Amino acid sequence: MTERADLRTIAAKLLADGTVDVLIGWQPGSSPLSAAPLILHAGSAGSEPGQAGPEALVFDARCAMNLVNLLHKFKGKKVAIVVKGCDARALAGLVQERQFDRNDLVVLGAPCAGVISPRALARALNSDSPDSATLKNDRIHAVCGGVETVVPLSDALDPGCRRCAMRNPQIADWLVADPVAQTDASEPAENVEEAWRMTRAERWRKFRQEMARCILCHACRQVCPACYCGECFADQSRPRLAGRTDDPADAMFFHLLRWTHLAGRCTGCGACERACPMGVDLRLYNDFLREFARTEYGYEAGADAQAPPLIGGFKPDDPNRFTL
Ligand code: SF4
Ligand code: SF4
Ligand code: SF4
Repeated sequence: MTERADLRTIAAKLLADGTVDVLIGWQPGSSPLSAAPLILHAGSAGSEPGQAGPEALVFDARCAMNLVNLLHKFKGKKVAIVVKGCDARALAGLVQERQFDRNDLVVLGAPCAGVISPRALARALNSDSPDSATLKNDRIHAVCGGVETVVPLSDALDPGCRRCAMRNPQIADWLVADPVAQTDASEPAENVEEAWRMTRAERWRKFRQEMARCILCHACRQVCPACYCGECFADQSRPRLAGRTDDPADAMFFHLLRWTHLAGRCTGCGACERACPMGVDLRLYNDFLREFARTEYGYEAGADAQAPPLIGGFKPDDPNRFTL
């Protein structure tokens, strides 16, 4: 059974006794209700006055970023990383794809009841630039234009967190908070169901509308732990494979190819949608990919670090309905 530990205490111990070279966690961010990555190196963390150490680590609903994306910078080192349930699945996926040896990682699992989405927060507060905002006992206390407002935290949570069935990290070595209640996600996601109820023409119109909003900034790719190619097809210049004009066809090409690469790998952490400056409904298409993997292949991305990846696996009894 995974042991319970205090986050700051276990982090300090792992860094001090040489178990790990690096620890990746969250610290309070510079804007209201945000958190930023905190990277601590053994031997130097907190050693200088004013330098952050393990006591600066936090975990709560502000910690939305998927830190697994940062692991790629520390290949070959022993790393401890704080992960939510969805991050743990991303981590398991990277172990499945042999990007990391599980023995080089100390996983500090943070059971998670949901994280704040900047868009949901702006809707809840009716303001996207509050003067101040703090989180107290599942309520957000904010001041917007000099007026005090209190809203329930649940109103500001990422919509994807509401039906999350992976809140308690599955591959943790230590749990840094008490387990939380899971939801049952055996039912298809509502957004996917709704898309299936549309006619083909309506689905196509929705897709065109979403793609027309995309400015090809690639922020969605940059924050995604599953996007780790040395050179992305979208950046390749000899030959240039993907255009970067405002023709929606360029956005369609980028996203369709990216989704092809994400099939059976996207864990639904929502980092891409939260990072998108244009509010593109990436969740719908990511959810569709996951539903497809689940219903057609009985496969959940990152659910089992020992299993072969979906694309790399083979079953002798596969009906081959999807093979060209
Ligand atoms: S998807 Fe689940 S584990 Fe991930 S942030 Fe939301 S509630 Fe937490
Ligand atoms: S595509 Fe988006 S939701 Fe899926 S793993 Fe990457 S960042 Fe997370
Ligand atoms: S972050 Fe949004 S705007 Fe930027 S490439 Fe991705 S979908 Fe397009």
